[in-house]
Amino acid sequence: MKTHTLGFPRIGAQRELKFALERHWRGESQPEVLPQMAQELRTRHWLLQRHAGLDFATTGDFSLYDTMLDHALMFGAVPQRFGFTPGRIGLAEYFALARGNAAQGAMEMTKWFDTNYHFLVPELSPDQDFSLHAQGLLDAVREVENRSFTPKAVLIGPLTFLWLSKIHGVPEGSDEAEAKLALLPRLLPIYQQLLAALEARAVAWVQIDEPVLALDLPPAWVDALPHVYRTLAPAHLRILLATYFESIEAHLPTLATLPIHGLHLDLVRAPHQAAAALRLWPRDKVLSAGVIDGRNIWRADLRAVLVQLKPLHARWGQRLWLAPSCSLLHCPVDLAPETRLDPQVRRWLAFSVQKLAELGTLKRALQDGEAAEETALAESDAAQRSRRSSPQVQQPAVRARVSALQAADAERQHAYAERRVQQRARLKLPAFPTTTIGSFPQTNEIRVARARFKRGELREALYREQMQEAIGQAVREQEALGLDVLVHGEAERNDMVEYFGEQLSGYAFTDNGWVQSYGSRCVKPPVLFGDVARPVPMTVEWTRYAQGLTKRWMKGMLTGPVTMLQWSFVRDDLPREQVALQLALALRDEVNDLEAAGIAVIQIDEPAFREGLPLRRADWATYLEWAARAFRISASGVRDDTQIHTHMCYSEFNDILPSIAAMDADVITIETSRSQMELLRGFGDFAYPNEIGPGVYDIHSPRVPDANEMLALLRKAREVIPDDRLWVNPDCGLKTRGWEETRGALRHMVEAARALRTEL
Ligand code: GLN
Ligand code: ZN
Repeated sequence: MKTHTLGFPRIGAQRELKFALERHWRGESQPEVLPQMAQELRTRHWLLQRHAGLDFATTGDFSLYDTMLDHALMFGAVPQRFGFTPGRIGLAEYFALARGNAAQGAMEMTKWFDTNYHFLVPELSPDQDFSLHAQGLLDAVREVENRSFTPKAVLIGPLTFLWLSKIHGVPEGSDEAEAKLALLPRLLPIYQQLLAALEARAVAWVQIDEPVLALDLPPAWVDALPHVYRTLAPAHLRILLATYFESIEAHLPTLATLPIHGLHLDLVRAPHQAAAALRLWPRDKVLSAGVIDGRNIWRADLRAVLVQLKPLHARWGQRLWLAPSCSLLHCPVDLAPETRLDPQVRRWLAFSVQKLAELGTLKRALQDGEAAEETALAESDAAQRSRRSSPQVQQPAVRARVSALQAADAERQHAYAERRVQQRARLKLPAFPTTTIGSFPQTNEIRVARARFKRGELREALYREQMQEAIGQAVREQEALGLDVLVHGEAERNDMVEYFGEQLSGYAFTDNGWVQSYGSRCVKPPVLFGDVARPVPMTVEWTRYAQGLTKRWMKGMLTGPVTMLQWSFVRDDLPREQVALQLALALRDEVNDLEAAGIAVIQIDEPAFREGLPLRRADWATYLEWAARAFRISASGVRDDTQIHTHMCYSEFNDILPSIAAMDADVITIETSRSQMELLRGFGDFAYPNEIGPGVYDIHSPRVPDANEMLALLRKAREVIPDDRLWVNPDCGLKTRGWEETRGALRHMVEAARALRTEL
């Protein structure tokens, strides 16, 4: 029996790679420093795998920026617009592709399946030439062998590589997916050469990742599967085909007939695949069972996993391999330094290093009997017991409240058409009202004050004063600009999820639980471990203070239940829907309290609503149904004349418009400026019933567009949105901008709105 991991996080336990990258980019380190750091991290991670008793050192999972980019370069697919020569990509060229240079914008970035990891999208053309440049991978293999580890090389499979690429220059009217698939005959020979080169280095196993098998693929792609792996079948090298993130059960009969030597299944996301494998996967091939959650930070219930593994062990014996469900890229590195975490909660967690150790325990327990691993298993049992019985995890009052939810709790008192009459009477806003999305520039002063307060260096009273000063400034600026609905500016918030998580029960925070998001950028998702409740109001004081400074309407600002869920490490002992409902109820209390404090407009941000969509279409309806319901529960405790806003900052809505409408926010603000209002067409065709604020300028850029530009966009918006339902606002919050450009852009925005009013 063997143990292995599909991949290991490369950023380093102390984010060493991040800091080395950033020093390199700033020109603060000698050119050789970054590659040295990379080598050191690779070696350290292989040593961790060896110390945990893993049978392979996974090779090829490391990258200075992104492995999809590395594969594109390895196949000679350098985006033509950069003018670089395939095979001659030094660090300067590499980072130009990843981050852009003076002449060219960076390669596009997009999320890796339903994770928060972003990969760079290869840019291909219909007559794409591929060529092999595998020195980097072969060098890594040599590094492993020099240390007498056993390498298992990892590759992204040809179907996944092509599916996730973009193809440019496809003739109008022809199918993009087809055009990409048509590149297969050009690409497969390169894979063959690569496998031959690995074979020549005496690599015994290569793991080929085909996570696209977890998606709804067009029939032509499914049909290509046997051909691809029959073509690749090398003479000596063994192929482990790795799948993850969803069930691939439908492909099992085909896979069983292919000349591959092993198959990895994600038995955490899709445990029922085990039964299918028992029926369909040959016993003389390797089955790699992904039984340790690679996407989350919970310690495994080892006893339960052993029960799951026993029938597999009985069938595959030595050919059963144990692994995390997917690459550990999506997990933080090491729990050991998290000494400030509540020891109780800490005991329930496992980061990557701990997960490797869990594999070892499982292997020995299967091979030598559970008695041999009694200490580790008993510790796992005790952790499970403590988690199940903790009063922090199970709050009967929270459970009771969720069970008592009625249909009416998810409905406003009256339909939008009636609410709007009351809101107009109360708010008395001009036509095309102007507002912003919530945050104002987070000046250095604000950041320093927050950090000092957090470290206990700034007394609470002084901190309050400084925040109130920032709020006051934001209000004065907005009044001077002539905005209609104001915001307090979010100076007191470090992060839109963490800020609320810190005030809710059921949340914990790590010091170093970083996960790579893209390149050198990492996120540190809070840990949602227990029932969620709101002990005391979270934003009411700040909002009331802000409202007290102005006669205009002050908009309350909250993060919605779906986004709170989506951007946290969420407990695995309760369905996500239930967790969303708990969050919704906590937020509902906040919304009601804001209303009681005289706040007439309340925005509940849901920027992560769309990214919660399951990978398979068949599962969309269920998710959308509970996600929209959770939002409505948070928003529906208020009177008809209180106006609920929501905000989403992306521009792919068309396929989920009915669910956006089902959220029933009185106003939704969305990102549109970069798509020149194109996306509004969907809202128009669908006849979206409530009010919309299409972003009229891109906040991601310091550029200050002039009023005419925004006016032109607004005129376009008027073509699809009725005049009395159109708002005027930027694309997103302004916290990353400076005051200079913010002032300039908003002045032009207000000017544009005023000009539009004269056209009525
Ligand atoms: N209210 C938040 C802000 O303005 C919204 C951020 C977001 O959409 N991601 O910063
Ligand atoms: Zn946004």
